[in-house]
Amino acid sequence: MSLVPSLRSRMKKDAKDRFTKAARYRLTSFIRGRGTTAIVEPDVCIGCGHCFDNCAFEAIALEDVHLHVMEHDYATRKAIILTEDCVGCEKCAVACPVDAIDMILKEGFRWEGNKTVPISTEAGKSG
Ligand code: SF4
Ligand code: SF4
Repeated sequence: MSLVPSLRSRMKKDAKDRFTKAARYRLTSFIRGRGTTAIVEPDVCIGCGHCFDNCAFEAIALEDVHLHVMEHDYATRKAIILTEDCVGCEKCAVACPVDAIDMILKEGFRWEGNKTVPISTEAGKSG
């Protein structure tokens, strides 16, 4: 009987260690912030909706998708990023359980050192 609580405690510690390791990797593996946006790899997305639930900026939509595979019909969903509303916080990328989300530079921005700068502003300055 006493094995059960100790096993549960060990499993909790293992899960916490796995989460900490994965979170550390994910927090350093994405670019984030102004000038960046999330993108979804549709073939990898399983339509779970975690990204949708975690986006504070309502920048994600879930689209119904119907598949026909080997004479069977399936209904699923795919996440779509509304780039104009995305602030590049990367929360969705961290929350996605299958790594279907990546972070990229937004159109009109470029890297300068470790910052993103709008290309149009730079062109405006030089002109
Ligand atoms: S990066 Fe942030 S703002 Fe953009 S879609 Fe993901 S959670 Fe929403
Ligand atoms: S969290 Fe990932 S798998 Fe789930 S809907 Fe969003 S992109 Fe698709």
